[in-house]
Amino acid sequence: MKPAPFEYHAPTTRDEALALLAEGGFDAKVLAGGQSLVPAMNFRLARPALLIDVNRIDDLSGIRPADDGGVSIGALTRQRAVERSPLIAERLPLLAEAMPHIAHPQIRSRGTIGGSLAHADPAAELPALSLALDARLRLQSQQAERWLPAAEFFLGILTTALEPEELLVEIAIPALPPRTGTAFDEVARRHGDYAMAGAAAVVTLAEDGTIAESRLVLLAVGDIPVPIRSVTQALRGAQPTEDAIRAAVESIDAEIDPPTDLHATAAYRRYLVKNLARSTLLRAVERACQPIC
Ligand SMILES: Cc1cc2nc3c(=O)[nH]c(=O)nc-3n(C[C@H](O)[C@H](O)[C@H](O)COP(=O)(O)OP(=O)(O)OC[C@H]3O[C@@H](n4cnc5c(N)ncnc54)[C@H](O)[C@@H]3O)c2cc1C
Repeated sequence: MKPAPFEYHAPTTRDEALALLAEGGFDAKVLAGGQSLVPAMNFRLARPALLIDVNRIDDLSGIRPADDGGVSIGALTRQRAVERSPLIAERLPLLAEAMPHIAHPQIRSRGTIGGSLAHADPAAELPALSLALDARLRLQSQQAERWLPAAEFFLGILTTALEPEELLVEIAIPALPPRTGTAFDEVARRHGDYAMAGAAAVVTLAEDGTIAESRLVLLAVGDIPVPIRSVTQALRGAQPTEDAIRAAVESIDAEIDPPTDLHATAAYRRYLVKNLARSTLLRAVERACQPIC
């Protein structure tokens, strides 16, 4: 199918884009990589009257080291650039490990990090990773600017806290503390398909070798990425053993409400996600241990 008629603008500055967004409001849509928006427009699931193509705004792209040891990523940065970045590999190995699971190289070379977050598909990798890495998102409108923790950004399926006149401009991810290990894994029907279930784990060990902090975020098992708080609580102060992790992940069931769809039943997703949680937490512990245990 072809999209419904729309007006097209390709501003070259952020101010211009923000003015167009303010003017367009609910009738306007930002075009980033187009990998989700264009198919939706072709199926007429999205019918924006005004399309604001932000691809010519140079200062929306780029991966920069932050002074706190973290990383700042421009919203328009292509997913492939994140995947190939030596800075990301060094400072945020979780992101580097997960990026190849997103679709295929051709899609990642157009798709942007901001587009994936703004699209907010519950089976997408980047929303879950942004929670696991405690990211903060910078949202700008013509009138104001605000920073939002990723944990407050996702409101429901394909729904975020972005106001119609706001542009997501930057994602800031803090440095991982010392003795931290991370791991990501998912199960999809074929490599590159959206995940049936996935897990991102972050584990920090204390100097005595016990678990100081941990985060487990699951994808494709709810309307938004799901941080499993009971696992964090159960593992705080625990020995990082397989038994402790196996016991902790038993609590996952109470915190998720996975869908049944044509790809998998809810029961199968529960089974998958528990196995993924256990294996990613164990791998994160092993990596946090290097070279101390
Ligand atoms: C065949 C196929 C398989 C795929 N598989 C996966 C997968 O396994 N995992 C996965 O995560 N994704 C997958 N995707 C989606 C892909 O990652 C998209 O790139 C991503 O979801 C959207 O990014 P985009 O830059 O293309 O955004 P666009 O399609 O341009 O925009 C998506 C939405 O975000 C809004 N938006 C974009 N940028 C901004 C911004 N800066 N500020 C405010 N709003 C903004 C748009 O208005 C639109 O509503 C797949 C896509 C295809 C076509």
